[in-house]
Amino acid sequence: MDTTQIEEALKGVKYPGFSRDIVSFGLVKNIEFANGTAKVGLALTTADPRVPTQVKSDVENTLSRLDGVTEVEVSVAVSKPNTPPPAAGGKQVTGPAQQALPGVKHIIAVASGKGGVGKSTFSVNLACALDKVLTENGRKRRVGLMDCDIYGPSAPLMMGVSQQPEIRGEMLIPVENFNVRVMSMGLLIDEETPVVWRGPMIMKTIQQFAANVEWGELDFLVVDLPPGTGDAQLSLVQTLPLRGAIVVTTPQAAAVNVARRGAMMFGKVNVPIIGVAENMSYLEAADGSRQYIFGQGGGKRTAEALETVFLGEVPLEPLLREGSDQGIPIVVSDPQVVASKVFLEIAERLRREFPV
Ligand code: ADP
Repeated sequence: MDTTQIEEALKGVKYPGFSRDIVSFGLVKNIEFANGTAKVGLALTTADPRVPTQVKSDVENTLSRLDGVTEVEVSVAVSKPNTPPPAAGGKQVTGPAQQALPGVKHIIAVASGKGGVGKSTFSVNLACALDKVLTENGRKRRVGLMDCDIYGPSAPLMMGVSQQPEIRGEMLIPVENFNVRVMSMGLLIDEETPVVWRGPMIMKTIQQFAANVEWGELDFLVVDLPPGTGDAQLSLVQTLPLRGAIVVTTPQAAAVNVARRGAMMFGKVNVPIIGVAENMSYLEAADGSRQYIFGQGGGKRTAEALETVFLGEVPLEPLLREGSDQGIPIVVSDPQVVASKVFLEIAERLRREFPV
């Protein structure tokens, strides 16, 4: 028995009301083991006196079951949160994760099973669409976009931002355009860095990256996840206090299978799937006829398989690609086209589902 094995066992202790464990939340400050006695020091920030009691007894129960442990001593340092937890339509649970991003009400991840389905395009336009619907409803708080796609960070290009984020103390200040605060790995990592080095980097840096951005007050933070369903994505999903995830897929069957695997990942960490959106659904000709270039029905089938809602179909739209390349999202440049309307409808749906 050693401290590593004790830490491993502590990963089985969940923070009350959360799917995440106390180790991944960074609450375990020290572990000692000698002569059969395991000593664990925890630091919690909570205003609820039941939380430390519950965590302490869960730790005691877990460790006393381990072979070689005869005694368990748990000390808990409790501090009161500085900021009141944000109110959010009765769905709010307070916990360390929320305190990590105290001014942010709802964090929504955008995921896909593989690259190239338009996940970044979707994230960027969803962020701009959320700003529009919130502004129309008199909200003055902002929307944020966190581009965690280390393999192909495209938010800076699509949002027309390129300046290095300012650093204040230890905090990164997001850059802003179209009313959306943007932070992207693309603004931080050197383009020359080979992609193979970025994989391991994600684990270490993303947690810091997520915690060290001065978002200020946000109603929604849209998180563009790296494509895929591997460990990097999973660790990221665990790091962020997500309200839910949107899965983006294209209509063909192969894309559906990868999206499904992606969705299973969220099940593992108890992040609800808000819905499935289909991108590149069809191409509309001038006479209104539709060509289903990549097949049909993949998004709906994925939504059914995941027992979640189908959020809508974004058509293939040349203006969308041009806008992305020019750094003006289509929702901003051409809000009247069908693709923009779909983004705005999805944003409106989120606004209703997650009250601000
Ligand atoms: P991902 O983030 O999934 O890798 P991107 O968002 O970078 O995908 O999109 C890949 C490419 O497809 C980009 O050039 C983008 O402009 C284009 N694209 C995405 N969605 C559409 C669409 N609905 N119509 C036309 N082009 C699109």
